[in-house]
Amino acid sequence: MIARKTLDAINAALEAGQEREHRSHLGASIIGGPCLREVWYKWRWAKKEFFKGRMLRLFDRGHREETRFVEWLRLIGCTVWETDPDTGEQFRISDHAGHFGGSCDAVAIGIPDLPPGVAALCEFKTHSAKWFKKILTDGLCSAHPKHFAQCQTYMLKLGLVWCVYFAINKDTDELHPEIIQANPADGARHLARAGEVIRSETPPPRVSMKPSWYQCTFCHFRGICHFGEAPEKNCRTCQHSKPIDAGQWLCSKYNYTLSKEEQLQGCTAHTFKPGI
Ligand code: SF4
Ligand code: SF4
Repeated sequence: MIARKTLDAINAALEAGQEREHRSHLGASIIGGPCLREVWYKWRWAKKEFFKGRMLRLFDRGHREETRFVEWLRLIGCTVWETDPDTGEQFRISDHAGHFGGSCDAVAIGIPDLPPGVAALCEFKTHSAKWFKKILTDGLCSAHPKHFAQCQTYMLKLGLVWCVYFAINKDTDELHPEIIQANPADGARHLARAGEVIRSETPPPRVSMKPSWYQCTFCHFRGICHFGEAPEKNCRTCQHSKPIDAGQWLCSKYNYTLSKEEQLQGCTAHTFKPGI
């Protein structure tokens, strides 16, 4: 017999406790996505994402697995920093006046495939058997451009030349560490993409005009983008809001710098951005 009530209770508890707030900055983890319009919708708080219990467990598992990767690296004699010794916090990158950023998993020296003493960015990711096989066969750049973009952006901003991307197959525990060399031009291209999203007053072009396009079928903003669903009303979707210095936002109607709480709230003068 399936313990249905138990399962439902776990799912309900996870779903109730999930982080529901929009993220202030544009994250390095999404800038390599195939559709800039999707990234823009997220950055402009068009629609909050809500995840089911299974997805939340999946994210949590990925996060918890990071500790294992670090343990394995230490086991083979690597020195691993999970936090920046200068700040005591995760290694963070920031650009575009504080509107773009991200935190990387770790930095290590002593990676056996790299020259002694060379520091490398470490990214740890768990994958389904299908994705794992694809990465193994095609390499990260071709199989998972979003993760590749994230690695290149971090390397550029942290001044590192090497990255070790660790993929693990969740079904079999097979491990695939891939060495990636920094390509500053590629990193700069992703940073420029982020700038484009941040500065754009209107939604960038669609990856496809067909809602049945495979990337659109997985997109959280499909309804807004293709079917006229109303976006959320908050300052980010209002035509009077504007990103300014130091990661702050200005309401040009009232010439007022908005706190995050005020942005979430919006006001009665809210007017949707054209084309949203
Ligand atoms: S529905 Fe398709 S075109 Fe629209 S934002 Fe999403 S991925 Fe892009
Ligand atoms: S007019 Fe209102 S909703 Fe629009 S940016 Fe200003 S405070 Fe926000």
